[in-house]
Amino acid sequence: MTAKTEADQNQSLPTNYSPLELESEMREFWIKNNISNKMELLENTAKGFLGYVEGPPTLNGIPHIGHARGRIMKDIRYRWKTMEGYYMPFWAGWDCQGLPVELEVEKLLGVRNKRESIQKFGMERFIEECKKTIMRYHQMWLEADSRLGIAINQDKAYWTYKDNYIEREWFYLKQAWEQNLLEEGHYVVAYCPGCQTSLSSAEVGYEGSYKEVEDPSVYFKFKVAGTENEFFLVWTTMPFTIITDTMLAVQPKAEYVKVQVQQESWIMVRQRVEAVMAELEITNYLITEEITGKSLEGTAYEYPFKDIIPKQAELETKHPLVHKVVAEDFVDVNTATGVVHLSPGNGEDDFWAANRRGVPIFVPFDDEVKFTNDAGIFTGVFARDADMLVVEELRNRNAFVKVKKIKHEYPTCWRSHHKLVWLARKEYFLRTDKINSKVLAAAEKIEYFFEEPKNRFLGFLKEGKPWCISRERIWGTPLPMWTCEKCANKRLIASKKELIENAQEPIPDNFELHKPWVDRITLKCEKCGGVMRREDFVLDTWHNSGASPYARFTDEEYEKFVPTAFLTEGIDQTRGWANSLLLEYIILTGKPVAPYKAFLFQGLTQDSKGRKMSKSLGNVIETNKLLEKSSADLCRFYMIRKCSPIDFMSFDLAEISRRPYQVLSTLYHLSRFFLQNATFDEFDPQKYTLEWAFKDGKLQAADFWLMSKLQEKIEEYTNKLERSEFNCAVAVLDDFVIETLSRLYVPMIRKELWTDEPETFERRQTIYVLLHHTLKMVTLLFNPITPFISEALYQKVYRQLESDLPESVNLAPWPTPNQKMINKALEEEFEILLKVVSISYAARQQGKLKRRWPLAKAIVVASEKTLQAIKNLESLFLEQTNVKAAEYAASVPEYVGGENWVSSQEDTITVFLSGQRDDKLLGEGIMRDLARRVQALRKEMGFVPTETLESVHIAELDAESRGLLEPYLPEMAGLVRARKVYLHIACSEVEAKWHESELDGKKIQINIH
Ligand SMILES: [Zn+2]
Ligand SMILES: [Zn+2]
Repeated sequence: MTAKTEADQNQSLPTNYSPLELESEMREFWIKNNISNKMELLENTAKGFLGYVEGPPTLNGIPHIGHARGRIMKDIRYRWKTMEGYYMPFWAGWDCQGLPVELEVEKLLGVRNKRESIQKFGMERFIEECKKTIMRYHQMWLEADSRLGIAINQDKAYWTYKDNYIEREWFYLKQAWEQNLLEEGHYVVAYCPGCQTSLSSAEVGYEGSYKEVEDPSVYFKFKVAGTENEFFLVWTTMPFTIITDTMLAVQPKAEYVKVQVQQESWIMVRQRVEAVMAELEITNYLITEEITGKSLEGTAYEYPFKDIIPKQAELETKHPLVHKVVAEDFVDVNTATGVVHLSPGNGEDDFWAANRRGVPIFVPFDDEVKFTNDAGIFTGVFARDADMLVVEELRNRNAFVKVKKIKHEYPTCWRSHHKLVWLARKEYFLRTDKINSKVLAAAEKIEYFFEEPKNRFLGFLKEGKPWCISRERIWGTPLPMWTCEKCANKRLIASKKELIENAQEPIPDNFELHKPWVDRITLKCEKCGGVMRREDFVLDTWHNSGASPYARFTDEEYEKFVPTAFLTEGIDQTRGWANSLLLEYIILTGKPVAPYKAFLFQGLTQDSKGRKMSKSLGNVIETNKLLEKSSADLCRFYMIRKCSPIDFMSFDLAEISRRPYQVLSTLYHLSRFFLQNATFDEFDPQKYTLEWAFKDGKLQAADFWLMSKLQEKIEEYTNKLERSEFNCAVAVLDDFVIETLSRLYVPMIRKELWTDEPETFERRQTIYVLLHHTLKMVTLLFNPITPFISEALYQKVYRQLESDLPESVNLAPWPTPNQKMINKALEEEFEILLKVVSISYAARQQGKLKRRWPLAKAIVVASEKTLQAIKNLESLFLEQTNVKAAEYAASVPEYVGGENWVSSQEDTITVFLSGQRDDKLLGEGIMRDLARRVQALRKEMGFVPTETLESVHIAELDAESRGLLEPYLPEMAGLVRARKVYLHIACSEVEAKWHESELDGKKIQINIH
């Protein structure tokens, strides 16, 4: 065994880059050495704090790659900022309560709704199941984080269902209550009949909640009171709302007409007559009278269902405007008939129109949105099931005109996909509309990195609607509001202590701040001595997570870490967490300040065909399953490199093994190449430093160029990370590794490392200094993106050479550019060189001259500046183009031309190559071809690049080639690192294991050992 093989065996970087093995080894290393905790110990010595609060994933589902993408971005920032020397509380957090978890448990228990689950299992059991469910999912998330290499601190995680968190969340409500921003009131809210709870207006616009649904499109007519044949013509897609109809509305500024249709006269807006008649397929009609919208105000109509809904008849006696026409500016005269029927119990505009006039709100629905007794014959019918019954009753009463089916976009529940129903309900609201100017002022000051998500967020915030925070559910933070049975006095409780102190009965041991336990506590009314009971609501789950900046920390931590420096979540959080954080923080502080200084909204992740990932399509890629077989580093690299963080990403598994693999594998092999050579020459980075290399003219042009490029790349990369252009940042490293290092620099110096002559020892050490520094910097820069390979190289290459380096790559300092090493002029010359070399390759292609064949001459015709650059780098130019001599000219020399020359041109640069090859050039060409084959064979047989071969044997080459090759055998031996190369006519001349190869289409045999 040779010395070089021994050296190779002493270090631990395996021949092949096997990411899965390497990653599990690094995972173990981190755990065994407690690296994530050590990253945090930097708090004492940090150069500053960067506040952070985790956007808590809901523990109701399996982590998929969409989650992974966001977590990788968070992890990137944490690793990078930690290396920069900042302390960041990168602590996990879990959203544990609310509708999503309850629905999951209902599914598990096999019940259809809340009522059923309480009846069958009771609340205690239901809550127990909720807790079990989140703990089950928690395990999967822990696994996914570990597989992905997310360095988040799991021990310091917050849980939104824990009493201490709930108490601090209540503190927000106390602030709202004291500022009169928390109100109970009747408002129209979106209500999901499936989940049996109201939703916030933010949730209604939630990603994917609008679905195309089929609804009846009904034209109907209400008779004008006191006439025989005059009617208002009205249109609706929700016939059930005719049950709760109390008024008609017209646009006061528009012109209305009476249209004669057979014996009847229909009132509608003028501009819609033709379109509506066409839709109704009525050709025979006549406009008989024009009237203003304003003049219709106060007209009474005969509500047709008074006989079957007695309550509606009763309503007429309660208020003079019931079943009258009102004038409202919101009436749109560009659609339908311009006459709108108002159901204040089922519509927001309708509600306010009634509310302003004191008209009673008729809401005959129970929690399942079934009609109550007040709805007469419709009692017990689910609202949307009443549609066709209503149409039938209209028909029976000469109030029906026409019905069709239409498909339209209609909001559905983002969780259960039931069609939402708008209902006037008693709810609790945060009057965020009152603080909207502060909200907008705060939002303007946030850094969003990209215009589009910023505009989207600001546009949404401008809506500034009150926030319905009450939910009629079980598993959630209880609304801490107690109301007196007698005098309706309200009291908000803001802590467990306050509750215990004020409870009328002693509190049992197993008490926690959840239903049903809190419901059992009654308080004594301070005003009248009556019994106060808790309002039977839990809080919107978005309120839970929105409270995290205060609720997840201690007071001291809160002071230190909030406002946070940077947060990132999916674009779907525009209406979710980004919003609730902002609103709640402004309520908490009373100031127009956001709890985050920067917010990066990420695009969502789709499947390879650009489709949304969903259970129904079966195209969800689970993180844990994916990473059983795929490398975490490659996935991380891929997901970050593929597109901008704000783009929707189409995840294609096949792409991972292409460019991402190429880049990381190249980095791995370059590091291995360096290590093998450096180990052989006993390179000591403490002795041979960068400072040493830069002294006494040791560096050559290519070395200076590499150092200059590296400094710029460090700067560019860091700047792009800072601007959240993660994909562009990775592209910088990608390009540097593949183009600058692997394709250009290493081939330039490779041959210099092949000798072990004492006289070139210093040159070799110089190259090691540069490779060591460059590859180490690249490894550190890669750490935020691909932490596994970075740690592996750091441990197996850099800590091998320097044992007193920090224990982990995560603890190493972030590279900073050395401005003194930047040489713009040299880089420009190299740009020119590379361009001219590429033109010469094009010329070779023209003449079918392989790049390995040496040619006698190249003539460069170009501007003075270009020529000067090439002259300055002439030896590199000759080597790169593989020609023996170069000539320079401002214009094409006369002797050039004819069949002995090939050329290629780009812009103002032309390169001529002499295509004529004499015996010398032919011989050298054959030698280089063979050398390449021997190199491939060396690699195939597992010889280490630094290892010297005993001998190389070539057989079965034709006589002419043998003659040409003979003089070049010593040079070839040097090239392939062999002591000697032997030529044989036939294989039989030597007893050896021959390997078949070919040269210019002819079979030859090679043996190496
Ligand atoms: Zn629902
Ligand atoms: Zn009272």
